[in-house]
Amino acid sequence: MKSIPIITIDGLSGSGKGTISKMLCIELGWNILDSGALYRTLAYLMEKRAIDLEDFENNSKEIKEDFKVTFGIGILGEPVNIFLKGQDITDLVRTEEIAEKTSVLSSSKEIRDFVRPCQREFKKSPGLIADGRDMGTVIFPEADLKIYLTASLEERAKRRQSQLKSVGSEVNMPILLEELEARDRKDKEREHSPLKPAEDSVLMDTTRVTPEEVFKEIMSLLVNF
Ligand code: C5P
Repeated sequence: MKSIPIITIDGLSGSGKGTISKMLCIELGWNILDSGALYRTLAYLMEKRAIDLEDFENNSKEIKEDFKVTFGIGILGEPVNIFLKGQDITDLVRTEEIAEKTSVLSSSKEIRDFVRPCQREFKKSPGLIADGRDMGTVIFPEADLKIYLTASLEERAKRRQSQLKSVGSEVNMPILLEELEARDRKDKEREHSPLKPAEDSVLMDTTRVTPEEVFKEIMSLLVNF
């Protein structure tokens, strides 16, 4: 049986993972997994139900029943839409507040163990674009193509700023820079599934290139698919 092809797109916040993943998904007609959105949704659910990390184990069955996440491609240039049990929660989870909570939660082994099988369920025909921090290293080590995106902190903060502005959020640039840097550090230094390029990944710096250029370069790597 022919295996289901997977492309993993890992990297720091604002490195262009979401945009590139969406472009690939539209071009190839494959499924998309925004794993950051899964962690954000879990943080949102736990906040809504006032469940702390310490209480997670006792409530995990209940949370599992509610944790039915699907994605919608929506508009190109905007992050994918997130649906929880069919309800659009995109604007509720793509906030800096939820990003902060997510960054803390996602360093827990218990949380990562809970989310791992949910992520693998997205591997469906005709193919999968998996966007995240540990897609190529931990979740889909069997991926056919692994991309690792980077960009300067300033450029990533600018991108995040315009994304937040587009949903009407007030943005203080010095604070945003600080928060982004702190989250990057946490993602890279955590014990479980730290952010790092897979040994067999292709590294791309997106600071001074357009999404179209990155997209074209990745498409040129697909000749053998
Ligand atoms: O990509 P996004 O900003 O939505 O991710 C939110 C947070 O989720 C990240 O800062 C990171 O801590 C966590 N995350 C993770 N592993 C992934 C994807 C996201 O730990 N595969």
